[in-house]
Amino acid sequence: MYVIGGGPGGLAAAASLKAHGVRAVVLEKSDRVGASWRGHYDRLHLHTTRRLSALPGLPMPRRFGRWVARDDVLRYLDKYAEYHDLEVVTGVEVTRVDRAADGSGWVLRATGGRELRSAAVVVATGYNHTPRLPDWPGAASYTGTLLHAGEYRDPAPYTGQDVLVVGVGNTGAEIAVDLAEGGAARVRLAVRTAPHLVRRSTFGWPAQRTGILCRRLPVRLVDRLAVPLARISVPDLADKGLPRPDTGLYARARAGSIPVQDVGLIDAVRTDAVEPVAAVASFDGDAVVLADGARITPDAVVAATGYRQGLEPLVGHLDVLDPDTGRPRARGAHTVPGAPGLYFQGYTNPISGMFREMALDAERIAKSLARGR
Ligand SMILES: Cc1cc2nc3c(=O)[nH]c(=O)nc-3n(C[C@H](O)[C@H](O)[C@H](O)COP(=O)(O)OP(=O)(O)OC[C@H]3O[C@@H](n4cnc5c(N)ncnc54)[C@H](O)[C@@H]3O)c2cc1C
Repeated sequence: MYVIGGGPGGLAAAASLKAHGVRAVVLEKSDRVGASWRGHYDRLHLHTTRRLSALPGLPMPRRFGRWVARDDVLRYLDKYAEYHDLEVVTGVEVTRVDRAADGSGWVLRATGGRELRSAAVVVATGYNHTPRLPDWPGAASYTGTLLHAGEYRDPAPYTGQDVLVVGVGNTGAEIAVDLAEGGAARVRLAVRTAPHLVRRSTFGWPAQRTGILCRRLPVRLVDRLAVPLARISVPDLADKGLPRPDTGLYARARAGSIPVQDVGLIDAVRTDAVEPVAAVASFDGDAVVLADGARITPDAVVAATGYRQGLEPLVGHLDVLDPDTGRPRARGAHTVPGAPGLYFQGYTNPISGMFREMALDAERIAKSLARGR
């Protein structure tokens, strides 16, 4: 069978399948495994712990430390493919998946006119597949530098510059701190919805473990418990332009906005090294117009505005995607009715950590496939 995508999700699925005696070939469009991680900014560390981010069958080495650096994630993914002796074919992009005419499974159409047949397929092309830039009026004729966070590598090109970071998810928060510490003259952070800020760990207890426990509890209970916890652990930054959110932490996470793990934002905002401002409304020549009417003229704008899954060309015609979110209607061991053998891996963003979730789903997929043989 085939696995589409050689990121952590696809590699985990392939390793689990192999462990269950199912031969899986990983098709990866770039020239190496872990392509997304190769493109992430230099400062990035996993915000989930080393132990809770390991993929099936291979722990991450202790020397990587608790919060694993991007380069070590890449070392791990390379090693993972080698250790499990996975069959990875690079330079092959799957452009479309179709039902086989004889009803015996799936036909994968790939670059170079290839047609590959398989009874089962795991789609693992990534939650963060296609950079999303909002449709801001005037953006096309903006005369400053406008880039998506996916293109940001390090603060060096912005030394002495006035930079606006848009969006305060984990990525926007960390890039803003990176710029402030890395020599930008001024860093502003455009905030549309105040985020839930959490400490990455408290007295050695990682926020991720709380996230794992929370998944067993009712949403309203977690939301209620989170309020006093936030008051104890996170200072009030309302006078700096970052008020406490008025929606529940877990309710927001379930809707797709996981809390922001603090890797320096709280201190940066407290010391005015990063200045929260209103959301971006539009662009006008060299100016950015904010939702409160302010016009500012930064040298550069980094849009940390998220990604789309971009699954439509691949499987959009198979009636397996949720029309509202564009994400698959099934995950793990489950397949969408009418699409047996078509599995999806890595299209949720759980509070308990994606590496961990992908490791669990890989096992579920492998067990389900091994059972059905
Ligand atoms: C900045 C950032 C930080 C993150 N930090 C964490 C963290 O700390 N902890 C955590 O648990 N999660 C984290 N995540 C979330 C998640 O774990 C990662 O995004 C992870 O890389 C997802 O793995 P994946 O295999 O699903 O997707 P990807 O890593 O995106 O891999 C998909 C692969 O598929 C290939 N591909 C795509 N389309 C095709 C195609 N049509 N044909 C063939 N190949 C294709 C791509 O080249 C890529 O190699 C983070 C995400 C981001 C963006």
